[in-house]
Amino acid sequence: MTEWLFQQDAYLERCAARVLEASPDGVVLDRTVFYPLGGGQPGDTGVLEANDGRRWTVVDARKGDGGRILHRLADGSALPGPADEVEAIVDWPRRHLHMRMHTGLHLLGSVLRFGVTGGQVAADRSRLDFDTQDEIDAARVNEALQVLVEADRPVSCRWITDEELDAQPELVRTLSVQPPRGAGRIRLLEIAGVDLQPCGGTHVRSTGEVGRLVVTKVENKGRHNKRVYVAFT
Ligand SMILES: [Zn+2]
Repeated sequence: MTEWLFQQDAYLERCAARVLEASPDGVVLDRTVFYPLGGGQPGDTGVLEANDGRRWTVVDARKGDGGRILHRLADGSALPGPADEVEAIVDWPRRHLHMRMHTGLHLLGSVLRFGVTGGQVAADRSRLDFDTQDEIDAARVNEALQVLVEADRPVSCRWITDEELDAQPELVRTLSVQPPRGAGRIRLLEIAGVDLQPCGGTHVRSTGEVGRLVVTKVENKGRHNKRVYVAFT
């Protein structure tokens, strides 16, 4: 089991950790700052460094069984040994872009209040798919996004039980993906006065940190689906 430090503090760029397992599937650490691919957000990249100068490039992070996080190494890398002590260092500029984008998609979802059928975060541009036949006015959306960014609303996380979520089904906006059940608790992302929904991703501390985000394209993906792309200007 890996301790998911990024869920407690998304701003941790590095941590000391011990290798639990190392195989061609990836390196499992006892704790990590690397976010694993999921919820439309890419897995983190970065490096693992040992005190003796050995260094491993992490090209991706994925969820493994039983709460493990697999740090995928570049092809052909020599593996660290079990119990090796390493410093896990995330590619922070890339991750911070993902945090800004991911938070920005919550803002987009609060402006366009349709069901969300899919989405993808990337450092350069991101998208959300909406279940709607309505036309989308990009200029109006951009204005509304800018108002939310300038309002600099605080962003925070808290945990609720499965039962508390069941009592508030309106919290679940994403039609295609239900939040994971069975762990007994669900992580809620709250943007004060703007959005409240289950989310396991990494976010910035306030909407001002998202920065200027604009709609770059709206695509019709079937009669009931609009794909909205956003990018930073
Ligand atoms: Zn989120």
